[in-house]
Amino acid sequence: MRTYKYQIREHPQILRLGNLLDDLADVHNHFLALEKRYYRIYGKYAGRYRLQPHLTKLLQRTHPHWAWIPRDTLDAVIIRIHIGYERFFDWIKKGRRGRRVGPPKFKKRSKYRSAKFQTGYAIFEEREDGKPSKVPQGTVRLSFKEWDADKQKFVFVRRNILYHHHRDWNGIVSYVQILRDSVGTFWLYVVTNDISKEVKPATGESVGADFGLEIYLTLSTGEKKQHPQPLKQSLNHLRKLNKAVSRKKKGSGNYWRAVRELARTYRKIADQRKDFQWKLATDLCARFDLIATETLNLEVMKRLWGRKVSDLAFYQFVEILKFKCFKHNREFFQVGLWTPTTKPCSDCGFHNENLSLSDRQWTCPDCGAHHDRDVNAAINILRGCLDPLVE
Ligand SMILES: [Zn+2]
Repeated sequence: MRTYKYQIREHPQILRLGNLLDDLADVHNHFLALEKRYYRIYGKYAGRYRLQPHLTKLLQRTHPHWAWIPRDTLDAVIIRIHIGYERFFDWIKKGRRGRRVGPPKFKKRSKYRSAKFQTGYAIFEEREDGKPSKVPQGTVRLSFKEWDADKQKFVFVRRNILYHHHRDWNGIVSYVQILRDSVGTFWLYVVTNDISKEVKPATGESVGADFGLEIYLTLSTGEKKQHPQPLKQSLNHLRKLNKAVSRKKKGSGNYWRAVRELARTYRKIADQRKDFQWKLATDLCARFDLIATETLNLEVMKRLWGRKVSDLAFYQFVEILKFKCFKHNREFFQVGLWTPTTKPCSDCGFHNENLSLSDRQWTCPDCGAHHDRDVNAAINILRGCLDPLVE
């Protein structure tokens, strides 16, 4: 599965998308409340197979104003609650280990982000019979329903939404999603079944990489990659914008304008971070056949280092690197949490127990080799992957 992201063009038509997401937030909250009530009364969880028939009744009786939304989009909301609860219970069953998983939460309308279209949409496709596609590139056609007063029933209406088609996708489209970000921009996600690879020629090189606070990534080749730290760069600007928001009269036009400006800055920071990480991952995949890193213990890192860890976003980088390695047929390894990487000397294997956190450079008392702390760790990480039996 691959997702391609396109920006939806500003157009009066996108008002409909905003209304759609607002209504879906109501649907989400309604069914989440129902789920919780069910649990209170019966001590178990209702699940999508009880909720979906209930939705059918709601649409006929008390909530006909939801009926303009395609049924599978409404169902997707219930399925998401269902999956959310299953993940939560799974996590509890496994003894609450690993990344914390919470149950689904109630959401404000403005915080509700995405709508899924599995059927009832048309998008550009190259047809095998050689006929032209139903819709041109740059358009997605969504089917809504409208109340027809003459016929006294809902009839289908198709609406064309324009998006900026900046690149082609590979594979066959499985479904599309509409997303609204905190700035108020709408995005089209096209999810395809593509798992094709772009295999890069072998280089015969391997590398170990050590994450750090001062230096983002230290390679076993001795290279050091600095992180631009966009959040730190923008802190002053953010403080100014936050002040501007708090000075405005809450709920006024100026207030929302300032809130959007703040959100736009945060979006830019996230984009800068991602840009850096994709470029770094691309660079590593181009030069090395095998990439070894350590396993991250994020909970501990956050406790020790606070905000900076979020700015560095190690976890996100590892995810990007994993995907890139899959795409270019590179081998990706993570050494175990308890593999010692810092203390052993990478030349002779001597464990330097006297090493403290502040020692950036040290000399091995056994063989006399001079080490840079991070490079030594990176070499040990690489070695730990190539030969996991030798400690
Ligand atoms: Zn040594």
